[in-house]
Amino acid sequence: MAGIRPERISVVATDTQLGDYAATRAAFDWSKARAWLEGLGSGRVNIAHEAVLRHARGHAAKRVALRWFAKRGEVVEYTYAELAAQTLKFSSVLADLGVAPGAVVATLTGRIPELYFTALGTLAHEAVFCPLFSAFGPEPIVARLQRGHARVLVTTSRIWLRKLAPLRDRLPELAHVLVVPEHDDDEIPPGTLDFRRLLRDAREAAGPIATDPETPALLHFTSGTTGAPKGAVHVHGAVIMHHATGRLVLDLGDRDVYWCTADPGWVTGTSYGIIAPLTCGVTMVIDEAEFDARRWYRILAEQRVTVWYTSPTAIRMLMKVGVPLAREHDLSALRVCASVGEPLNPEAVWWGVEALGRPFLDNWWQTETGGIMVANYPGVDVKPGSMGQPLPGVEAAIVRRTADGKVEVVTEPDVEGELALRVGWPSMFRAYLNDDERYRKCFVGDWYLSGDLARRDADGYFWFVARVDDVIKSSGHLIGPFEVESALMEHPAVAEVGVIGKPDEIAGAIVKAFVALRPGHAPSDELARDLLGFARSRLGPAVAPREIEFVPRLPTTRSGKIMRRLLKSRELGLPEGDTSTLETFE
Ligand code: ATP
Ligand code: MG
Repeated sequence: MAGIRPERISVVATDTQLGDYAATRAAFDWSKARAWLEGLGSGRVNIAHEAVLRHARGHAAKRVALRWFAKRGEVVEYTYAELAAQTLKFSSVLADLGVAPGAVVATLTGRIPELYFTALGTLAHEAVFCPLFSAFGPEPIVARLQRGHARVLVTTSRIWLRKLAPLRDRLPELAHVLVVPEHDDDEIPPGTLDFRRLLRDAREAAGPIATDPETPALLHFTSGTTGAPKGAVHVHGAVIMHHATGRLVLDLGDRDVYWCTADPGWVTGTSYGIIAPLTCGVTMVIDEAEFDARRWYRILAEQRVTVWYTSPTAIRMLMKVGVPLAREHDLSALRVCASVGEPLNPEAVWWGVEALGRPFLDNWWQTETGGIMVANYPGVDVKPGSMGQPLPGVEAAIVRRTADGKVEVVTEPDVEGELALRVGWPSMFRAYLNDDERYRKCFVGDWYLSGDLARRDADGYFWFVARVDDVIKSSGHLIGPFEVESALMEHPAVAEVGVIGKPDEIAGAIVKAFVALRPGHAPSDELARDLLGFARSRLGPAVAPREIEFVPRLPTTRSGKIMRRLLKSRELGLPEGDTSTLETFE
């Protein structure tokens, strides 16, 4: 599949909302982005108002906001007006239960409509929405509910009975459990309330509270890729960023049918699976089912999805299935295919061109940043392997820490250093839950330090190198696993690969690759030798792996990120640390 490919994919600028990157950047300031929203007077803003309530009064009232595909086949739609009604009803359910603004309302459900009503109603009530991933086991759920001091939990009757009912005593601060039956004959378990009945009987609250933009709105736990997950607190003012990135990066507008495949249990599934698209007035497709290549292509084709936001792990799974299946479907409506969560190998960008007729647009951000910070934009040239350029309004830099504890901005191009962001973008996290010291340590002067290494090229494009923790020091070279993984991904036998530094007396560390093979390929010494040679020819002997180990699959987080720290601890026989977000296969 490899071969010689140009470094840049030229894109003919269409009439995207960004227009010319340099011109948009030069003309941009956050007060303009604020003016894209309606606001609630005197600088007040509420996420639920911007996402749904304002549309329900305008010409979007009858537009479909959510089109939900149930696992079992039915399709249910909610217009903006209907979604607004459910939002205001849930808000008054909270008020009637005596839930105070500021209290944490957690969800533990799959992608079902009630999750969206809860998120928006919680925000309209000025409570704090905390989505949890429903596939977590009991312990990680209890730990998060305890750490977040959750007052309300919305879940399904089955999840409750299976995972939490036996541990109820450990959650004394949890005042109310609201359950949604998964099947019509499911009973409402003792000690819980019937979500649907409460909503049916509720009046609609008067409207959103005119909220101070600094009011906490969201509590998101990080993915736990590098250690125990941290709780990041976000405020209502973040919606300025959600909306601006929805427009400028995803190019969302009221003509769009949009599909974000991320689970709302993660920050992407909330920022870009609920808030940003609704503020832009799109019709959102929601699929309750898990990944299935055929089903996904069918949804993209039949729904005429125009903007699709997904992740490298999903793209790798589609690549594994192959180009022909994609080509069987009419994907001509797709205008933007974007990816986030992990570095996107150049191979995947090229695959998008081949299979879907357009490159995947990679973008970079973190739970802490609350919204997309560095991106490839529709209508702007793509350099495969690069995560693109900073959002207009965001100042990103490569910095070096100095001996006196400060940071120095690296101005020369192509030098590796830590990716830093100038404080001041609206969706910056305002705290780590119960960990002020850790929060303070993220900042030096007015820079937020991301913990990721990157470089900036002479054209201003950023290239991800590695997480600071994952960087490999081998015989005096600093090697980012991503570079090595990307080279191996170009080999036709490779489906997935994770690279670590294995301690070595002479070199300090040697590069070791764990490889999962595509269907039709079997591990053998010959294939290992072939892979080593293949990598050496692309990377040179200093960077290429010295060892290959075949594995059936790589350890990933539930959101699909490769957990290199687990490859490392398993290699060294060390304790595995926090594995609460590890994907487990039953
Ligand atoms: P934890 O902080 O708990 O270890 P995490 O960092 O994976 O987990 P997230 O906030 O979900 O939690 O992920 C953000 C990180 O994901 C980034 O710091 C970066 O390392 C990686 N990432 C996200 N998008 C990209 C991208 N486009 N290219 C490279 N890396 C990315
Ligand atoms: Mg992180």
